[in-house]
Amino acid sequence: MLRRFRDLSIRRKLLAILLLTSAVGLALVSTAFVITEATGFRSGMQTELSALAEIVGSNSSAAVAFNDRKSAADTLAALRAKPYILTALVVLKDHTLFASYVAPGATLQHLGFVDGSGERARVDDRKLRVELARASFPLAFGGHILGISPIILDGQQLGTVVIQSDATELKHRLKPFFLMLAGVLLGALSLGYFLAAKLQRIISEPISHLAQVMKAVSTDKSYYLRARKQGNDELGMLMDGFNEMLVQIQERDQKLEAHRIELEEVVQRRTHELSAANRELSQTVAELRFSKDAAEAASLAKSQFLANMSHEIRTPMNGVLGMVSVLLESGLDGEQRCFAEAVRNSGESLLCIINDILDFSKIEAGRMHLDPAPMDLHGTMAEVLEMFGAGARSKGVGMECRIAPDVPRYVEADLVRLRQIVVNLVGNAVKFTSRGEVQLRAFRLEERGEERVLRFEVVDTGIGIRPEALAHIFDSFTQADYSTTRSFGGTGLGLAIARQLVELMGGELGVVSEFGAGSTFWFTLRLKALAEAPEGMALSQRQPVSQHKVRFAANLLVAEDNPVNQDVVRHMLGRLGCSVQIVDNGAEALNAARGGGFDLIFMDCQMPQVDGFTATRKIREWEAGEGPGRVPIVALTANAITGDREICLAAGMDDYLSKPFGSEQLCAVLQRWLPGKMVEEEAPRGETAACPVESAPAGEEGDPPQPPVFDRAGLLYRVGDPEFVGIFVEKYLASTEQLLGLLRQAIADGDLDGMHLHSHSIKGAAASIGAEVMRIIAFEMEKKAAQQEELEGMTGLYQDLEEAFAEFRREAAQPK
Ligand code: ADP
Repeated sequence: MLRRFRDLSIRRKLLAILLLTSAVGLALVSTAFVITEATGFRSGMQTELSALAEIVGSNSSAAVAFNDRKSAADTLAALRAKPYILTALVVLKDHTLFASYVAPGATLQHLGFVDGSGERARVDDRKLRVELARASFPLAFGGHILGISPIILDGQQLGTVVIQSDATELKHRLKPFFLMLAGVLLGALSLGYFLAAKLQRIISEPISHLAQVMKAVSTDKSYYLRARKQGNDELGMLMDGFNEMLVQIQERDQKLEAHRIELEEVVQRRTHELSAANRELSQTVAELRFSKDAAEAASLAKSQFLANMSHEIRTPMNGVLGMVSVLLESGLDGEQRCFAEAVRNSGESLLCIINDILDFSKIEAGRMHLDPAPMDLHGTMAEVLEMFGAGARSKGVGMECRIAPDVPRYVEADLVRLRQIVVNLVGNAVKFTSRGEVQLRAFRLEERGEERVLRFEVVDTGIGIRPEALAHIFDSFTQADYSTTRSFGGTGLGLAIARQLVELMGGELGVVSEFGAGSTFWFTLRLKALAEAPEGMALSQRQPVSQHKVRFAANLLVAEDNPVNQDVVRHMLGRLGCSVQIVDNGAEALNAARGGGFDLIFMDCQMPQVDGFTATRKIREWEAGEGPGRVPIVALTANAITGDREICLAAGMDDYLSKPFGSEQLCAVLQRWLPGKMVEEEAPRGETAACPVESAPAGEEGDPPQPPVFDRAGLLYRVGDPEFVGIFVEKYLASTEQLLGLLRQAIADGDLDGMHLHSHSIKGAAASIGAEVMRIIAFEMEKKAAQQEELEGMTGLYQDLEEAFAEFRREAAQPK
């Protein structure tokens, strides 16, 4: 019910409240009226009945006094005129009933205070009083009304008259009053309804208006709408508040809209900027890609340049060092010897630096390739210690090699590179230690199948390294402090190379050092252990003992098309004790190899008809089929460019010698491949090692050296005998003259293959004889011919070549 009321509209609620309120008020007022009226009427009736009783009492007093019941009854009977009177009694003092009147239809028994009947009827006084009290209660609308009066005669009460009426008269009299009251009530309610219906609008209308506006705002989001205010009461305040809220919402909306538009603009701007940035980025990426390609090309060019340069520098350096050796043996006096030794030392240092730079540039360009092969690890370590032993001893520094028993003796590794790392670390240790000792240690960290993880340590008690320098010593061209350069020399490349080599081998290199107390350089390697020394294993450097001259009782085949080179090689190998058969091209080499009996074959790579690569492949095929066994084949090539070695190995060759080579390199190759053919002879006193370890680099400042027209000293150093120099030069002049004729013809015919073949031959011969300018020009022509499109300038180059040849001829004719 209450719920349903709550769901009613405000208008109905107000109407209901107003009507209910006025109805309740009217009901209360009417009730008050009714009670007042009823009480008035009742007391009027009572008064009237009492007056009648008094009249009846005075009329009946004589009858009572004379005990005349009949007269008394007649007096009472006169009351018949009043039809609403039901009974009338004359009661004596002793409460006995003297006379009575009973209206038709009524009985005395209706009276609660009369006991008995007839002559013996009595009135119970107590009950009469109770009845009297009840009858005088104003709201007892329906009950009887009693009138009572004493009968007095001569001042004495003889009895009492009691008259009883019913409520009919009362009802009768009250009826018009009730009717009027109902009419008034109806009218008042109608008027109330009418007024309420009118007045409720004052409240309900603004509220429903507000509700409508709210609905419109919430459904249509029309925040510009406003509620109409009708007064300054609470509703007016509500409207004001609502309108204020709408204003704020609208303002916020406007701001939001403005912000959105601004944001959209920003987004558009940013998108625009982004796409511009994107365009720029793609342009930058394209430029970067271009730069990267250019940088890669430059890096490639750099590494090629470095390889060529090192070749170019090493050749004259060999000449310098060779001539110094000759000079030192020529009976110099003390001071002169001193100077010559200084030249030799500087030359050797220069060679070391060049080698370092070459290695470094190879690693940088990712062109350093490892060549793992079986090697004697213990021997190599001992050999390195021996190498530095004399230097250390002269400073009073002890040297020790500690190899744990579980470190395998034979392993598979790149001997040259592993030795390079150890040499570098031990060399530094000796260099930076002035007392105490240097230890080279090796022990095993892990073992898995054939694989061993080994840790090598070079421990010294030298000057140590400051903590702040430790982080940088592995950077290229970095030394612990500048005074190092002054005191000890060096390039700062050694450790950088060593670390990169170790990493290339899959290991790690590090250092622990205490400044002033010494350093421990360590590196780890994962190597394959070999149970025993496999056949053909490269020997460590211990074998060529410095005080002995090495010779080989070996039968060799040399495939070389250039007659000058043929002579040079024949001579050098002859000096090493070998017997040599020379053939002019690959086809002949294959035939000769099939004939058998050779311990090793030197194979020029580029030869007419069948080149060295093809010949090698064919020899290998033949060996695999019917051949007696595998003969080592060593490539001879005039190109020092990185990558040649890989091509040679891929063709089935075993080793590689780059022209020009000295007898020590030839000797090293023979030692490597023909250790069983080696015979040692006691060397004359003072003679240096027959196969000196290729010594290291070094330099003095000055202009870059110009290539020599004729490197007579280099040639002499290589062939070892001035007499042969003359013979070779003669041969060179004759054969080159012929080759130049062929080349000229090929250029005239536009014959690319001919140009390539003849310039290659001229280059090879020039390299062997030490005609450096000619070699460079011929190499240039060879490259152009190989690239085919680049034939411009060929004639010009040919003229340069002829001029260089003429100059060579002039220089060669000079007295030595
Ligand atoms: P460098 O050719 O100059 O010796 P390295 O790369 O081999 O170049 O060494 C870099 C620097 O590290 C050295 O100049 C030296 O300062 C420091 N260094 C290397 N080894 C040692 C060592 N055993 N004791 C002290 N300092 C060393």
